[in-house]
Amino acid sequence: MKPAAFEYHAPHTPAEAVDLVSRFGDEAKFIAGGQSLMPLLNLRLAAFEHLVDLRRLTELQGVRSDAIAVQIGATTTHATVGRDADIRRLVPLLARATPLIGHFQIRNRGTLGGSLAHADAAAEYPAVAMTLDATIGTLSPRGRRSIAASDFFRGTWTTALDPDELLTDITFPALHGRWGFAIEEFTRRSGDFAIAGAAVAVHLDDDARIERCAITVFGLSPAPIRARAVESDLVGRTAAETDATDLGVAVTAPLDTVPSDIHGTADYRRRVGAVIVARAWARALKEAL
Ligand code: FAD
Repeated sequence: MKPAAFEYHAPHTPAEAVDLVSRFGDEAKFIAGGQSLMPLLNLRLAAFEHLVDLRRLTELQGVRSDAIAVQIGATTTHATVGRDADIRRLVPLLARATPLIGHFQIRNRGTLGGSLAHADAAAEYPAVAMTLDATIGTLSPRGRRSIAASDFFRGTWTTALDPDELLTDITFPALHGRWGFAIEEFTRRSGDFAIAGAAVAVHLDDDARIERCAITVFGLSPAPIRARAVESDLVGRTAAETDATDLGVAVTAPLDTVPSDIHGTADYRRRVGAVIVARAWARALKEAL
């Protein structure tokens, strides 16, 4: 099928893009890589009279980094995120998540900002943003905002963005020292969205005790969820004082909005999720040790 007819706009600045979407209201939508929006339009599950293409907004492309943070423009493609040397060095979890997203054709066009704005419950980048406490920069007719990742994802395909608000950049803290990271997921076929996934970051102190950690599950609730109670409980322990299998159960047992669909029942997803959390935890901890 082909999408319903729409008027195409190709602004050159973020301000112009925001102005267009704000002017046309509900009839307008930003389009970045089109990897989520175009299937919806082609299947006529959505229709907009105006599409505002973000590809010419050079301001929103690329990676800027220093010793403290890595800022990535919203229209930076997954492929660029996966191969950028600074991202691989300073935000390795983001780079490692990239090959898990779809197929290379999708990664060549899909954008980091599009993935966060689309907010699929089983998407990898939102989970990484939550795990690493990223900050999301936006622009709207009301000005600029910075939104913590923990406040950004509200539910399936739902975020803190207003309809006329453009996601402009994502900032990750540059993490130095004794960190370990891992992202694991279970999919039926390579490139599919995850049935269950987990992202982990763990930092050890000089005595090899857990100083900070973050565990996020995805595909197991309408939005990625941090296991904050479990994280707090782990602080101060050594590796020998943690059991990955128990931890997987502790993270997934309290989840009360696990989806049930053609890919698996809620109970199945929870059991798979527990194994995936255990694997991610063990791998991250091993890297930190
Ligand atoms: P678009 O499709 O252009 O836009 C998506 C939505 O975000 C639209 O509502 C649009 O208005 C909004 N938007 C885009 N950019 C902005 C912005 N800067 N500010 C405000 N709103 C914006 N994703 C995964 O995470 N994991 C997978 O395993 C995976 N597998 C896939 C498999 C297939 C076969 C396909 C087709 C897609 C898959 N995807 C997967 C989705 C892919 O990663 C998309 O690229 C991504 O979700 C959206 O990015 P995009 O740039 O293509 O956004």
